[in-house]
Amino acid sequence: MIRIALVGAGGRMGSMLTDAFAAAADTEVTARVDPHAEGCLAALSDVDPATVDVVVDFSTTEVARASVAWAVEHECGVVVGTTGFTDEEIDRWREEYAAAHVVVAANYTLGAVLAERFAAEAAPYFDRVEIIEFHHDRKVDAPSGTALETARVIREARAAAGRSAVSEPTTRDTIEGSRGADSGDNVRVHAVRMPGMTAHQEIIFGGPGEGLTIRHDAYDRTSFTAGVLLAVRSVRDRPGVTRGLAPLL
Ligand code: NAD
Repeated sequence: MIRIALVGAGGRMGSMLTDAFAAAADTEVTARVDPHAEGCLAALSDVDPATVDVVVDFSTTEVARASVAWAVEHECGVVVGTTGFTDEEIDRWREEYAAAHVVVAANYTLGAVLAERFAAEAAPYFDRVEIIEFHHDRKVDAPSGTALETARVIREARAAAGRSAVSEPTTRDTIEGSRGADSGDNVRVHAVRMPGMTAHQEIIFGGPGEGLTIRHDAYDRTSFTAGVLLAVRSVRDRPGVTRGLAPLL
């Protein structure tokens, strides 16, 4: 049984994961931490580290930093779902926590991670590619972090295969922004916001006479469960800081 301290336990993700860990045969939540939720402990410092194998944090960036430090100090694994960390901070963690067991990922949806992997495979073979991400209309930032990450992976895959930047046919925008945003090397990203949608993404590749579309749909928050469970089950076998789910698949 993997014993879990769940930080942010009363939040939207924390509540969903409380049920998911209870339903899984090999996980058990031994501590729920959330100062704003009934029946939860106020802080990780109230938790006996001897009852915890893995800390799972879906709270706030500041709190998650403290969760990582607590887990490292007490030699527990830690799975961070909370977002808001810069590349520089995670690079510092890699140095500081080389002997610890940390998984940090901005997207625990297995399908999104696989879509990214498939896109990297296709990227060197198609000279046109555009990304369209669709989200609910309560999302205030655009484009999504996942779209930017997908674009980065595509650029890297093309560069690694010795391919040039994606071609850009448009020379004149009648209305500025009609071609979406250039995330770099002409990999265009378009963001759609609609009531009723959750989180969806299409990666559209095109070449002479053919097209290939990779689409992922996350319909609700349970889409994160499989990836979080995967991380919880593997984090203690992975020394240092693992960023993203891809290395776990
Ligand atoms: P939420 O606001 O519903 O939940 C956050 C919870 O943290 C709240 O219940 C709050 O009371 C609690 N909290 C605040 N201070 C705390 C403290 N000192 N100690 C413990 N708990 C504390 O938010 P959410 O939608 O559940 O998202 C939480 C985080 O997870 C966000 O950063 C979000 O971006 C991220 N997220 C990541 C993924 C992913 O796949 N990586 C998926 C969904 C959400």
